[in-house]
Amino acid sequence: MERIIGIDLGTTNSLVSVWQDGRSRLIPNSLGEYLTPSIVSIDEEGHVYVGKIAKERLTSHPEHTAALFKRFMGTEKTYALGGREYRPEELSALVLRRLKEDAERYLGTEIKEAVISVPAYFNDMARKATKDAGALAGLHVERIVNEPSAAALACRSTGGKGQAEEDETLLVFDFGGGTLDVSLVDCFDNVVEIVSVSGDNRLGGSDFDRAVAEQFCKEHGLCFDALSPQRQNVILRRAAQAKCMLSETEQTVMTVTDGEFQGQMELTNQKLIQISMPLFHRMLVPVRAVLNDGQKERLEISKVVLAGGSCKMPTIQQYLRHFLPYGQMTVMDPDHMIAAGVGVYAGIKERREEVKDLLLTDICPFTLGTGVYNEADARRSIMAPIIDRNSVLPCRKEQRFQTAKDFQKSVKIDVYQGEAYYVDENIYLGELSVDVPMALKGQESITVCYTYDINGILVVDVKVDSTGKQARQVITTGTYTLDPAELEQYLRDLEQLHSLPADEEDNQMLIAWGERLFAQTTGELREEIGRRIQYFQHLVNQEQDPYKIRKQRKYIADFFERADRYLDTFADAWQRLEDDSSWYEPDSGGADPYGEGTESMAEEEDLKWYDGHLTS
Ligand code: ADP
Ligand code: MG
Repeated sequence: MERIIGIDLGTTNSLVSVWQDGRSRLIPNSLGEYLTPSIVSIDEEGHVYVGKIAKERLTSHPEHTAALFKRFMGTEKTYALGGREYRPEELSALVLRRLKEDAERYLGTEIKEAVISVPAYFNDMARKATKDAGALAGLHVERIVNEPSAAALACRSTGGKGQAEEDETLLVFDFGGGTLDVSLVDCFDNVVEIVSVSGDNRLGGSDFDRAVAEQFCKEHGLCFDALSPQRQNVILRRAAQAKCMLSETEQTVMTVTDGEFQGQMELTNQKLIQISMPLFHRMLVPVRAVLNDGQKERLEISKVVLAGGSCKMPTIQQYLRHFLPYGQMTVMDPDHMIAAGVGVYAGIKERREEVKDLLLTDICPFTLGTGVYNEADARRSIMAPIIDRNSVLPCRKEQRFQTAKDFQKSVKIDVYQGEAYYVDENIYLGELSVDVPMALKGQESITVCYTYDINGILVVDVKVDSTGKQARQVITTGTYTLDPAELEQYLRDLEQLHSLPADEEDNQMLIAWGERLFAQTTGELREEIGRRIQYFQHLVNQEQDPYKIRKQRKYIADFFERADRYLDTFADAWQRLEDDSSWYEPDSGGADPYGEGTESMAEEEDLKWYDGHLTS
């Protein structure tokens, strides 16, 4: 039987696994270790070093060594190594080839196929680059799995029998070297269903290394950015070691020796928190987003699953314990979780008896819709969402639209992806047209049906209701085009666009408010918000009756306030917790962070979590 291996191709470390003896097993590399650093070094003679050796060479030959290239998968960036340019997928292929060899040695057979995991927010280009990397390494990669899905799968099938356990809602917090992926997963019967995903692909353990390294430089009168790459790497490496030491001891000394230079710095978990506070704050952003999008409260989570090497940091566990339900955190080998799950996937793909009934679903991370005529401003069409973001895939949704003008000859259906109110602020994916019989406005209608599948293929079907005439368009690219950083930027840009000075500030304010809510919500609520924006614009632009405008402004503001309050149900609780310092107080062990005691602690000024107190 042809074997299929599972690969966690990480930013920092990669692992390989396989389904064996009824369970997912990790495969050790030639050094007997499960983690192979995703680092490649090529010398002038063209020798390739992968993994731990390359990691050593990162310090000794930084100009011939590449790391963290996964961050640039699917982009044009290249790396000059050993006198030749390499693309990120070529470097990834070298790592994959090594893992393939390790697996072949371990299993004693040639391997031709692999399942590879990628961050949920990887865009289409990055996913394609990952498949290409597989091909370059001689591996057929039919299926790409999202990393959080893999973690959930690992968590669900630890018994190995794939038997139905209790229904539960998991929050998977995958914090690696370069990325943070958070997702909400519902498990019932044999189904593992991703409810919502979010993340930050510019946040990871290496940011903590960097914070420690910068602190070290500060204490020694150096400027990190002004140092040579070689010295930077020496300091970063020591910083990472010191950081990892802190998962075993409360206090450590970071020592850097580099040529003439010698320096030391004491590091404790408290100090680590102090110098990297902004990073902690950023960790919560995607946690909130998945809860909001999944319409779940913190307390509905039955388990918090920690994945990724950075989750071994006690400060991070402490921080999350403070914000998430107490006592439900699963800490089992965070850095093996993903690979173990991809191994289960490999088992499913091999149609193994024990797991063949496990079903893994996926979700669509962005809203897909079409543009509709805007009465208020004919130049700017409005986004009519058809498939809401976080819909479970495969997914099929239908919606009916009417003609917008008298004697219209045809209807054009533009396909957009994104959360903004105006389509021109979303991403255009394609279009198709159908002819309709000429009639008065609103008398002809078409039914638009979007079908979106697990491989990111969108099929758009249009039917003219009166004639039965049909048209179809298949859209395969551009379905995963935004990563979280871009999305954040894009939402920020949106706010910018609408904060321009306007004559009628109050009117503009209300419209901007509505648009923001439109981007933040889904489903019926969003439709309702859209209708009110449209109505209000109609009043302002067409009717122009000041009394009516004022009256409606009040009513609509009332409604928007309620919508906001609904969205804040979660945010309030978060804010209260965020102001509370108890999560990092070493003596508060065991105290219930939601109990009354912590409230009064938070009120004492000097106990604010960001104000020192690092020596107790
Ligand atoms: P990726 O998925 O990005 O490849 P991993 O899940 O392997 O990453 O995590 C790598 C990160 O975990 C690195 O930044 C590393 O410093 C960090 N890490 C590993 N072990 C520890 C530890 N014991 N304490 C703190 N951080 C750790
Ligand atoms: Mg990882």
